[in-house]
Amino acid sequence: MWPETDLLDLWQLVSKQGWTDQFAARWTPGEQGAVAALQAFLQDTVGAQDYPSVRETSRLLPHLHFGEISLRQIWAVTQALGETRGIDPPSSGARVFLSEVGWREFAHHLLFHFPHTTSQPLRSEFAKFPWRPDPGGRLQKAWETGRTGYPLMDAGMRELWATGWMHNRVRMGVASFLVKHLRLPWQVGAQWFWDTLVDADLASNTIG
Ligand SMILES: Cc1cc2nc3c(=O)[nH]c(=O)nc-3n(C[C@H](O)[C@H](O)[C@H](O)COP(=O)(O)OP(=O)(O)OC[C@H]3O[C@@H](n4cnc5c(N)ncnc54)[C@H](O)[C@@H]3O)c2cc1C
Repeated sequence: MWPETDLLDLWQLVSKQGWTDQFAARWTPGEQGAVAALQAFLQDTVGAQDYPSVRETSRLLPHLHFGEISLRQIWAVTQALGETRGIDPPSSGARVFLSEVGWREFAHHLLFHFPHTTSQPLRSEFAKFPWRPDPGGRLQKAWETGRTGYPLMDAGMRELWATGWMHNRVRMGVASFLVKHLRLPWQVGAQWFWDTLVDADLASNTIG
């Protein structure tokens, strides 16, 4: 789907730097890791999801993506906790969390009904959008490597490279920066995220 030469470049970089080795300390793949992450999240950290500087989101996404935990399990465990605490959902953070999970379902629903959106805009008039020419890919490289000069954008892109993950609000920021500020096509961003996210998911990445 993506240009073959770009993938080749990426793989050469990956094999030279052992790039994904650094992820091992941050993620515990497998069902046990998924259940432990859910329990720790619901008991300790569940809170507002709007602050990228605070670790308050679940980081369950790769576990969901690789089938190590299911949506039904998440729902059941959250409800059971609510019963124990006598409140349902067990906290306002848990309510936000469940609505976030709903976004994932919505993304899959959209992809099912509009499969062309992985490479074409949902609204066809945007196919003629006047993107900015980027000779030599200078702006694209600056965005990908976190060298735009905008601290929050650059921090997000560097975090992505170092950990394979980025907070949702920062993902929204860098995506908006790419298309509205740099005026580069959204497909460029979708491709980079696809190659670098540990939780790369076609439906959620496309809607983002
Ligand atoms: C440009 C862009 C690209 C994205 N690419 C991906 C991707 O490739 N894969 C992916 O799974 N998510 C993607 N997202 C959605 C979202 O950013 C991540 O799901 C979230 O940041 C994962 O962290 P978490 O598990 O701590 O989320 P939490 O905030 O703890 O949310 C819990 C779960 O809800 C789901 N969820 C939350 N927000 C969204 C959302 N906006 N869309 C769909 N599902 C959501 C995820 O399954 C997540 O694990 C993207 C968002 C944007 C703006």
